[in-house]
Amino acid sequence: MTLRPMEATSRLPRLRDRMTEAGCDGLLVTSLTNIRYLTGFSGSAAMLMVTHDSSMLTTDGRYRTQATEQLGAAGVEAIIEIGLPAGQQDALAAFTRKTGGRRVGLEAGAITWAAQRSLETVLAGVELVATAGLVESLRRVKDEGEQDRIEAAADIADAALAEVAGMIGGGCSEADLALALDTAMRRRGAQGSAFETIVAAGPNGAKPHARPTDRPIRPGEMVVIDFGATVDGYRSDMTRTVCRGEPDGPQARRMYEVVLASQAAGVAAVRPGLRAAEVDGACRSVISEAGWADAFVHGTGHGVGIDIHEAPAVSATSADTLEEASVVTVEPGVYLPGEGGVRIEDTVVVTAEGCRAVTRYPKDLILA
Ligand code: ZN
Ligand code: ZN
Repeated sequence: MTLRPMEATSRLPRLRDRMTEAGCDGLLVTSLTNIRYLTGFSGSAAMLMVTHDSSMLTTDGRYRTQATEQLGAAGVEAIIEIGLPAGQQDALAAFTRKTGGRRVGLEAGAITWAAQRSLETVLAGVELVATAGLVESLRRVKDEGEQDRIEAAADIADAALAEVAGMIGGGCSEADLALALDTAMRRRGAQGSAFETIVAAGPNGAKPHARPTDRPIRPGEMVVIDFGATVDGYRSDMTRTVCRGEPDGPQARRMYEVVLASQAAGVAAVRPGLRAAEVDGACRSVISEAGWADAFVHGTGHGVGIDIHEAPAVSATSADTLEEASVVTVEPGVYLPGEGGVRIEDTVVVTAEGCRAVTRYPKDLILA
């Protein structure tokens, strides 16, 4: 599929509006994912100072060429300053004073105590204030290019699972299946996995974030498979639970049916303007009615984008409201220690009327 371009050039102007609302005439962006979102730069070390008319990206010598190329490709105009960490701070300070930054926001969730102390010295005379979520609030709504990248990642993940699911019938181990999935996604064009792939069979399935082991998947066991791909920096996230043959144990099939109904109720609830907590409530009430309220031990979902977990949160305590073009997961689960677990997860794009799932692998419990 051809990926539509991203609207990177509108991001800094929109951020400046948020800065004004927050009473800042400068923002020092230290979250690397926020820097990537704003500028296209994907290196592992950088800072970005944004003032009202201008911006400066600082990084080190490893990224001299890459920084110029990526900002150019994104169409973002910023001064690029290459140097050692101390030199970068000095350059940022000079730039801030020159461009009139007197009240500068720091990203409270993305700066170390040591860095803040050091900036207080370098930026003496500039008022530093804590900010939260200024860039993240922009990232909650995905442009068409971002949606295409997430959807392409989801397509790759669907195809990878279809390619390797047959291994389960052969009694492969959890780790074998995880490796095969990761490899299949790479071969199909993913930059990598969206996060560490989870394959949890039988009793391991009761641990929502189990790591794959060398344990073979036995007949009658349910297997929780939670994974995703990354395409051009954007991630997908999907969980399927499948069974090697007929499920063992008296509760297995009922667990699956309850979680399936819960997940469908959550997806059906998603629409713009709805409080995200209500999606959680829609999923949770189905599981509670089945008597497993205490076995659904995590929130219903999360936003997905450059980060695998980003705003908005989809949980009982979330204060977020869903917006059109947000991308979130719906992933209820039931976990019974010693027995096993079931989780079913889709990544969905919020549309004007409801939502559209981009993860489309079938939800059949028993492998054909
Ligand atoms: Zn997941
Ligand atoms: Zn997830």
